[in-house]
Amino acid sequence: MPAPILILSGGEPLMRPDVFSLAALARDLGVPAVLSTNGTLLDRESCRRIKDTGLMRLSLSLDGPDAESHDGFRGVPGAFAALVASAELLKSEGIPFQINSTVTPGNITRTEDMLRTARGLGAVGFHVFLLVPVGRARAWDEAFLAPEAYEAALRGLKVLEPDMGLEFKATCAPQYQRICRETGSVSPRSGKGCLGGQGFMFVGHDGTCGACGYLPLSAGNLREAGIREIYRASPLFADLRDKGRYRGKCASCEYWQVCGGCRARAHASGDFLGEEPLCPHVPKSPERPASLAQGDPGWARPPISRRPKSLSWTPPRTASRSSPGLTRPWRRGFTGNTGCRLPKQRS
Ligand code: SF4
Repeated sequence: MPAPILILSGGEPLMRPDVFSLAALARDLGVPAVLSTNGTLLDRESCRRIKDTGLMRLSLSLDGPDAESHDGFRGVPGAFAALVASAELLKSEGIPFQINSTVTPGNITRTEDMLRTARGLGAVGFHVFLLVPVGRARAWDEAFLAPEAYEAALRGLKVLEPDMGLEFKATCAPQYQRICRETGSVSPRSGKGCLGGQGFMFVGHDGTCGACGYLPLSAGNLREAGIREIYRASPLFADLRDKGRYRGKCASCEYWQVCGGCRARAHASGDFLGEEPLCPHVPKSPERPASLAQGDPGWARPPISRRPKSLSWTPPRTASRSSPGLTRPWRRGFTGNTGCRLPKQRS
């Protein structure tokens, strides 16, 4: 079992006054920590504290390869210049950083250019994200592409990967792991595609635990149970780890063990155990392959015989059914019913 890594994210984590106290605590506990920031609050003093507290890496967001595209996407003139300044500052301070880019219709044809920009900025990694339709993105219809378009973009990146010259990772794109297998080229960073509840857990500012920041289902709360207990015994995580509980084509997919589909996008489509809406793959057999039906030792269901009383589902914070622009698959099919079992709320 690899040692855990703590990712401090937000919102903008540098707005939290005690963020460096948390980083120092992680350091003192021997837990490596990284920070995900938009870079706008970075200065020499924050860099000093980043180094003092042993934060290993920062991530900066890039939405287009140049000022025109990045600023246009953000709607903030000067955003690209600020990003470049942050990258320069981090480089001068010797703090490693990666570039995170979300694939949208506005930049899908320019992923290679963004990779070049990331390299030019001195990033040690380039991580691309497929959009998850939650929060403000739910009302942002223009950002969503057909599954085939995302597939083509991911396959294009797969071709580029060997010569990128920096670490590459496709995030919130579990199907990339399928593409790696189909093309016979497994990435060095090839854990399971979706790690929600299976190597990764999200802890909100109020102690609520979940599978990821985009899946608004609670696995428990740190104010009521220990983190190990929640991670091992949460009914939510038990569901996510059990292929037999999945529905739709992900349930019969020969790549489930390495992919699993994005559970947050499935949830936004109406069923968090349903199929990933951005994957065009058609499983070879509607039947579960025997090897998968028997279960992979590495993905054995955790013991859940002793479910802590304090672990309970909370109703998902779903968008209003009357949201405008109900034109995408997850919107057309969205009923507000997650399909999960919702026991009575504790009063
Ligand atoms: S069908 Fe589901 S499990 Fe299979 S590759 Fe697509 S997203 Fe992954």
